[in-house]
Amino acid sequence: MSETLFEQIIAREIPADIVYETDTTLAFRDINPRASTHVLVVPKTRYRNVAELAEADAGLLADVLNTAAKVAELEGVADKGYRVVFNTGEDAGQTVFHVHAHVLGGGPLGPEAR
Ligand code: 5GP
Repeated sequence: MSETLFEQIIAREIPADIVYETDTTLAFRDINPRASTHVLVVPKTRYRNVAELAEADAGLLADVLNTAAKVAELEGVADKGYRVVFNTGEDAGQTVFHVHAHVLGGGPLGPEAR
């Protein structure tokens, strides 16, 4: 059995609305969207947060950011603007300890869209 919720999604053990996939990353819609586009991008290898990922594998971090940009294009928000957020640690509201980028867009974004 996988360790975190997102590993279970990557392993297709639980369902998710997948919007894009590469060899190293997976993008799927957030179950509780805070913007009209709200997609999560995860590396298929688990690191707890973006700092651990950056230190361990800069190439994989670049893959996550490239997938985020691709998702923004596919969702039609790339031109008007979008936000990429890595909540890191408890005070930032991180609840799933498998690093993930939130891609948020589809209209003016307030502070609730994170
Ligand atoms: P965090 O708070 O760790 O930055 O973000 C975790 C995100 O995962 C939250 O925005 C939450 O809505 C989302 N989430 C939690 N459980 C599930 C789930 O089972 N499926 C999907 N697709 N998203 C989830």
